[in-house]
Amino acid sequence: MRILVTGGAGFIGSHLIDRLMEQGHEVICLDNFYTGAKRNILHWIDNPRFELIRHDVVDPIKVEVEQIYHLACPASPVHYQANPIKTLKTNFMGTMNMLGVAKRVGARLLLASTSEVYGDPEVHPQPEEYRGNTSCTGIRACYDEGKRISETLAFDYHRQNQVEIRVARIFNTHGPRMLENDGRVVSNFVVQALKGIPLTIYGDGSQTRSFCYVSDLVNGLMCLMNGDHIGPINLGNPGEYKILELASTIQEMVNPGAELVFKPLPQDDPRRRKPDISKAKDLLGWEPKVPLREGLSQTIANFRDRLNQPVASHQ
Ligand code: NAD
Ligand code: UDP
Repeated sequence: MRILVTGGAGFIGSHLIDRLMEQGHEVICLDNFYTGAKRNILHWIDNPRFELIRHDVVDPIKVEVEQIYHLACPASPVHYQANPIKTLKTNFMGTMNMLGVAKRVGARLLLASTSEVYGDPEVHPQPEEYRGNTSCTGIRACYDEGKRISETLAFDYHRQNQVEIRVARIFNTHGPRMLENDGRVVSNFVVQALKGIPLTIYGDGSQTRSFCYVSDLVNGLMCLMNGDHIGPINLGNPGEYKILELASTIQEMVNPGAELVFKPLPQDDPRRRKPDISKAKDLLGWEPKVPLREGLSQTIANFRDRLNQPVASHQ
């Protein structure tokens, strides 16, 4: 198959491309390199089945493909809040443009949505039926409301134009190739522990998250794309950890001497998050396999390698 991956030079997108290339597909990676890096897909550049397009999804494009994994969007609060209007444009105009491509060429589009559509959830764990508790005026809105409108666009293109869609609600994911300055909690703690600087805990660290290893997540995305169910379907690891527990685990695994410091909790930071993955299990036969510590050891090893090797630019 010929498959387009938007955001393919990013963290999840590049791992997905590895799997698609290994399966023998033709893959087009489209990325504007805002948070993506050429080095993530460099190993495929000379392969005749691989193509790279530097393009911003906010602008229309014509491509002929059978499937589209639409991942283009910064995922870390630091990066999506740096230019919130751009994040909104990426989510609305970018998703509309990609649904337009899907409509024109009859491709199936998988939207990478997020657990953030549940906001600061009042229902725990979160099933897909839960409608969420977001703030449309807060500092996270460009991302969480942006993703909510992308889901709406996908479902309306499906109902009105019969576009084949799949909607994945991805929960916190980690693994090799996260940016050193990504700003998300796993990469921050690992980089801080490796550099011997204090691990920054926002708030009192009692807020919870669930961390999925990237290979599990990529399997889930591919099961959803190639299965019969439109979604939305939660994809994540249901193991739930306090941020303080995560800090202690990483401290113990990397640098028992590292200190912990407490910083203010960012505005609208969700108190707790854990996916109900019953649908993914029943409808896709998918569940994550990699335990937290096993995944963390891979993430840590990858950061250790990169921090020891000076890189001139992240591109
Ligand atoms: P990432 O920031 O590593 O990757 C995003 C990629 O999209 C980057 O390569 C970036 O350069 C590209 N991009 C951003 N804006 C673009 C634009 N306007 N045009 C073209 N390319 C653009 O993030 P990630 O963690 O790999 O996330 C991938 C997708 O999964 C995102 O849509 C994100 O919302 C979703 N997601 C990720 C997580 C997670 O924990 N990683 C959780 C929930 C949802
Ligand atoms: N967090 C933290 N220290 C950091 C980065 C994040 O304590 O250096 C907290 C953050 O406040 C949130 C949780 O870790 O409660 C997860 O944050 P992240 O940005 O990784 O993802 P999200 O909030 O989008 O789930």
